[in-house]
Amino acid sequence: MNHQQTLTNCTVLTVDSADTFYPRGRIVVTDGRITAIGNEDTVALQGEVVDMGDSLVMPGLINTHTHSYSAALRNAADDLKLMDWLQTAIWPMEARLSYERSMAASTMSCLEYLQSGITTYVDMFYYTDATAKAAQRSGLRCFLAAAVFSNPIVETADSIGAAERFIRAYKGREEETLVYPCIGPHAPYTVTAETWKQCMDIADRYQVLLHTHLSETADENRQIFEQTGMSPTAWLESMGVFDRPTLLAHSIHLSDEDLDIYAKHGAAVSYNPVSNLKLVSGIMPLKKMWERGISVSLGTDGAQSNNSMDLLRDLRTGVLIQKQLNDSAAFFNAREAVRMVTIDGARAIGMEDRLGSLEIGKYADLIALNTESPRLCPLHRESLKNLYATVTYSACGADVRDSMVNGRWVMRDGRVLSMDAEQVRKDAQEAAAYMAQDVL
Ligand SMILES: [Zn+2]
Repeated sequence: MNHQQTLTNCTVLTVDSADTFYPRGRIVVTDGRITAIGNEDTVALQGEVVDMGDSLVMPGLINTHTHSYSAALRNAADDLKLMDWLQTAIWPMEARLSYERSMAASTMSCLEYLQSGITTYVDMFYYTDATAKAAQRSGLRCFLAAAVFSNPIVETADSIGAAERFIRAYKGREEETLVYPCIGPHAPYTVTAETWKQCMDIADRYQVLLHTHLSETADENRQIFEQTGMSPTAWLESMGVFDRPTLLAHSIHLSDEDLDIYAKHGAAVSYNPVSNLKLVSGIMPLKKMWERGISVSLGTDGAQSNNSMDLLRDLRTGVLIQKQLNDSAAFFNAREAVRMVTIDGARAIGMEDRLGSLEIGKYADLIALNTESPRLCPLHRESLKNLYATVTYSACGADVRDSMVNGRWVMRDGRVLSMDAEQVRKDAQEAAAYMAQDVL
């Protein structure tokens, strides 16, 4: 027997290519997929009827760059330059990471994603197995890149071997686990040419996304130029890194030639405005990217440099700084903003045919915003512009009341259903307290 439910009594923002919305909407979900969608007068009630309490329903948010383990480092080192930040707190604390502590911290991040409306996230770093277990516990969809460094890391001296073992264990089981393995060479300055080749080989053999950090700082550009005589982007292109699907976090210090390389190869970008502002890394050249047709999505980056995982709040910041940078109030409008955290996020991970908008046949990954929140009042349900503006400029993660992933409710009426939130917080507190001993 199929499991079927009809979500009713809500306004539905589909974020499809025609900007369809339903002021009095209904969505039928059958076995994890959307099987009918429309207004109440066109879609019949089928299966279990779920009263959505007058909420605003939209696609689940897609966070295309984060480091879940770093919830353990949240608010541990702030207002510092990069090297001071690493040496005084981040490195000493990271040295105390373990599989269990990484799991506790990653689960904490998942709880925050979930309660902030994120239904899919792209993750990279250590202890990938622990992060995958945390993702499965939360019920969220996770694109998980095993981080690869040429030097030894806290977890292992052989991160490429660990990455391949992780990919082999999860590849082909995505429908069951909702964990989509990826390969994550950390950055041009931590990965040698030889290791880049091994990562490309793994990406091709297992057909997985390659996710990395690129041109986050001007220092990185200088260092790579000294070593190779090229920009980081040109260096990666010369090795053939972009000859497969790639997702590039930050992407701030790019020349026109670099941007042309992105466009030529269809490389996707994760824009991380809050992390970039906090570390004073710079502002990503969004206008030049869009002019070249480069796909840009949004990421929070990790809790050590953000420090919260509220993608809607970051979206607002990301929009406002781009308006200022381009001296144009019209630049980066609310429609484009909502697309950046939904369908453009899906495109960044090659899932635009299955995720990112509410359409028949797509996975039922959706969230409902509480219209009783003062930030959602007044709401003009007949005005598309108003709905887009509400999501972009006034709503925040705390306004998300319900969340469904793959047809399963992971949060309902503000209550987390997929895991014991109190226990998750307790475990994360204990892990972080251990790591902070004699450091903070
Ligand atoms: Zn990052």
